Amino acid sequence: MEEKTGVFPGKKFGRWTVIEFAYSAATEEGQVLPHLRVACECGTSKILSIKVLRSDDMQSCGCS
Ligand SMILES: [Zn+2]
Repeated sequence: MEEKTGVFPGKKFGRWTVIEFAYSAATEEGQVLPHLRVACECGTSKILSIKVLRSDDMQSCGCS
């Protein structure tokens, strides 16, 4: 887990809970961001960038 993200396993973003750091990758804007494996409360897991997790429109996998 990268220090600068301030994110750690178990941290919650809406219904998502962070499982682990996955990888760093460039977004469509060319910004390199950490991507995290997260699990929704419904059991769905996914890899999302920190930016997506912090946005208001991605607070679950779509189940709520
Ligand atoms: Zn869900």
